[in-house]
Amino acid sequence: MSNPYIGRFAPSPSGPLHAGSLVAAMASYLDARWHGGTWLIRIEDIDEGRSVPGAAEGILQLLAALGMRHDGEIVWQSQRKHLYEAAAARIEGDTYPCGCNRREIVDSRIGVAPDGSAIYPGTCRHGLGPGRTMRSLRVRVPTAGEDTITFVDRFAGPVTQHLASDAGDFVLKRADGFWAYQLAVVVDDIEQGVTDVVRGADLLDSTPRQIHLQRLLGAPTPRYLHVPVVRNSNGEKLSKQTGALAVTAGDAPAAIGVLMETAAFLGLALDGPAPDAIEAFWCAAIPAWGRLLAERAAET
Ligand code: GLU
Repeated sequence: MSNPYIGRFAPSPSGPLHAGSLVAAMASYLDARWHGGTWLIRIEDIDEGRSVPGAAEGILQLLAALGMRHDGEIVWQSQRKHLYEAAAARIEGDTYPCGCNRREIVDSRIGVAPDGSAIYPGTCRHGLGPGRTMRSLRVRVPTAGEDTITFVDRFAGPVTQHLASDAGDFVLKRADGFWAYQLAVVVDDIEQGVTDVVRGADLLDSTPRQIHLQRLLGAPTPRYLHVPVVRNSNGEKLSKQTGALAVTAGDAPAAIGVLMETAAFLGLALDGPAPDAIEAFWCAAIPAWGRLLAERAAET
């Protein structure tokens, strides 16, 4: 029997849900439902400094008002630190304490990663220098020549990254004491048995780092599908601070309006009359997602 499908939506509660996150939520929901699978919700509140009180509850209320029903228990990263700690301990031989601060890394000018951050020059790779204390924990990436990660994204196609020059040794535990997103997301996807990650293309560059961690932890790599990022009229990525969506439970016309706009952004062609109820929208959207996947597959 083939693997059951387990997907997830993993919002960071740093503000209310915006149009860009809703695209990721809808795509992951439709993909799970189209495959007859499970759709989990995980609240990524690991960066407690950026979590806004009440934001997670607002996101969950909005998803419910839009008729997106999740399976299983909602998990909260802030309650799972023991899992990140245990995973970091398992790969201890591939990690090292780093005493560098941001300024020192930027000043080294060794390179810039695709996300604009400075590539770590490897200063503490072979031990902390005299008088230096640990600030963060980093994972060693393979040296050039053995550092190529490739995967085929279900939407973006083949992706190749050279970890040494495109990412460098990256942080697993931050100087402020919080576990880094890259570790938490990998540990949770493994622990929850996630088979399919569907999320925004802003995370495409992070995926090779996550595959590297999966391999170190001896875990399989899920399938990936990255949906295009929503930009505003100035071409800027919609951040959590802009374009927050407001739909109150029971306001079906507002919910359907938001759902139809999101579906149009994804390129879904709904069959039949315009839906007049939230359930009718999903009944039309699920097969439309299946047709979209078939079209994309035929193009490649
Ligand atoms: N928490 C991340 C975000 O809201 C998404 C992580 C993921 O889907 O892997 O951007």
